[in-house]
Amino acid sequence: MPLVSSQEILRAAYEGHFAVGAFNANNMEQIQGIVDAAVEERAPVILQVSQGAIRYAGLEFAAAMVRTAADEADVPVVLHLDHGTDFDQNIRCLRAGFTSLMYDGSKAPYEENIRVTAQVAHMAHVCGIPVEAELGKVLQSTDGVTEEQVQAAMTDPGQALDFVQRTCCDSLAVAVGSVHAMKEAQAELDIERIKQISETVNIPLVLHGSSGVKEESEVEAIQYGISKINVATMLNQAFVKGLCQAIDEDPDNVDPRKWLTVSRDAVKEVARHKIRLFGSAGTVKGNGFASPSKSFRSANLGAIE
Ligand SMILES: [Zn+2]
Repeated sequence: MPLVSSQEILRAAYEGHFAVGAFNANNMEQIQGIVDAAVEERAPVILQVSQGAIRYAGLEFAAAMVRTAADEADVPVVLHLDHGTDFDQNIRCLRAGFTSLMYDGSKAPYEENIRVTAQVAHMAHVCGIPVEAELGKVLQSTDGVTEEQVQAAMTDPGQALDFVQRTCCDSLAVAVGSVHAMKEAQAELDIERIKQISETVNIPLVLHGSSGVKEESEVEAIQYGISKINVATMLNQAFVKGLCQAIDEDPDNVDPRKWLTVSRDAVKEVARHKIRLFGSAGTVKGNGFASPSKSFRSANLGAIE
């Protein structure tokens, strides 16, 4: 089916207490692995183009691959811009057919973040496209961050309502204990903070840096308003591990497709695991959504084992 906007699927996730997996679209094999998992699990899925993917594949090329994958799929697929750097890049993505945008002004002063986010949201809403914004800072593990820095960068629940009201953003990326690009799942999220923010703003919240978060903590966070969870590092790890194993097993092979098939399958299984964990498996019924039938929490914790 054609690409869909993230608006309805994130609202359905927020109200149904599940989360939609937002997976990074770096190359054809990763995109195919992710969408195959979503189709088999009957889940909506967000494919997001990061700044790294734009540098690697190019904006138009990445967008075209996701669009083709969506056309072939019979579950809702969203094409989302991850960590949009400025107003101009958001316009370029809108013209390239993105169905969900993000402006990340978290490094800018508060008023500047509001000003540009509001500008992006106004422009996107004219075209019927929703916008994710970021308040607080989700830091980078490559910068060698300390626990104190993570604490200090967290989203201030007291600012959240003012920010959402003045920017008109549709979803909010929050800094609640996760850090980008962590290679092991060790972090626990600040659930109290998530609760406070969610009760105030009443829009879908977004978790970045999920590869470094304990799965129990992710599942708990979904109960309190986390409705979109970004997964990048874990998929890259699966892709590279699959590739290395395939090369080890058949070092004389000269056909890259043989090795990349193993990588694609490895990505698919990680995406499937996350889709089940987030409770979005089975939520696509026909063209609409159905709430997960079993007790969400116990069903999801079962998926961790
Ligand atoms: Zn991020």
